[in-house]
Amino acid sequence: MKYSGVISRYREYLPLPGDAEPITLLEGNTPLIEADNLRRALGAPCKIFLKFEGANPTGSFKDRGMTVAMTKAVLDRAEAVICASTGNTSASAAAYAAKAGLNAFVVLPKGKIAVGKMAQALIYGAKVIEIDGNFDDALRIVREIGEKTKVVIVNSINPFRIEGQKTASFEIIETLGGAPTHHSLPVGNAGNITAYWKGYVEWGAKHGTSLPKMLGFQAAGAAPIVRGKVVKHPETVATAIRIGNPASWKQADQALEESDGQIGIVTDKQILFAQRLIASTEGIFCEPASASSVAGLKKLVAKGCFTQKDTVVCTLTGNGLKDPDTASRDIKPPLRAKPVLNDVLKLMNVK
Ligand SMILES: *Cc1c(COP(=O)(O)O)cnc(C)c1O
Repeated sequence: MKYSGVISRYREYLPLPGDAEPITLLEGNTPLIEADNLRRALGAPCKIFLKFEGANPTGSFKDRGMTVAMTKAVLDRAEAVICASTGNTSASAAAYAAKAGLNAFVVLPKGKIAVGKMAQALIYGAKVIEIDGNFDDALRIVREIGEKTKVVIVNSINPFRIEGQKTASFEIIETLGGAPTHHSLPVGNAGNITAYWKGYVEWGAKHGTSLPKMLGFQAAGAAPIVRGKVVKHPETVATAIRIGNPASWKQADQALEESDGQIGIVTDKQILFAQRLIASTEGIFCEPASASSVAGLKKLVAKGCFTQKDTVVCTLTGNGLKDPDTASRDIKPPLRAKPVLNDVLKLMNVK
């Protein structure tokens, strides 16, 4: 059957009228890849699956929520949408607004957006406004604009975003034939961990599937939930989770508690190591932020937290091509040869 995006596929689970015409770029239906090489590299006893959300139309999971939020905005006859962003929300909002024929405004922390994400927002035609502040400042301003004007906010404080994002859990359950025992993911603004948990709970209530323990990971320099207090000046190489005051903090705490899960810290060094490990063992290039899910898993494996009976799904939230600068840093540069056969062969060092 022809695939028509997450709204058509899961409409009965979404709070949209049955006749609403979806604004879609055919998001969702992303690969769930069994990662046996990675499992061996980590020495993990459990099965590991990677949900590669970088395969979405704009290269991150944000598209799942944006299709629902933008469809709702059009139903409500909005003329413009706005978001604060660490990069991917703005890329997604700009693309879906283009498809819907709406104006998009995006407010970004200056100098902290990966090049690919900035290029996306601009080429999709959004009006990009940089501020001399961080994401939390940008979101504060956007909230105020939402109160003062008719412009619709499409950050994850818009509940339709969370509704769309929960469809990733549905896909995982349908692909595995049940829920995993554990689900690991990066935590920034904490919308996604909220959405996944909502998805597992709702599917479980209807179909009797079990519930995973939720495992969330924050970057060491941007770990407000772990530390239990707002981080004024969050810093991490993983710009997508460079957030000091998560909008869905309470919901994340609830997901962690209800699922008997846990939230932990990973350092930038551990994040970059995991990013390369995923790429070199599994052939998947994800963003630094995405790799926190695997960096965190690695730590828990070392502590002996899993058995052979466990199945862990790690969400790889975004595509590594968005941020080639970070990926190329500290990596061995290409070898160089003269344009002659023997020089190239010498470097190849094969018989
Ligand atoms: C948005 C984003 C996150 C963080 O998700 P939250 O819902 O804000 O916790 C992680 N990784 C990537 C690639 C993202 O775009």
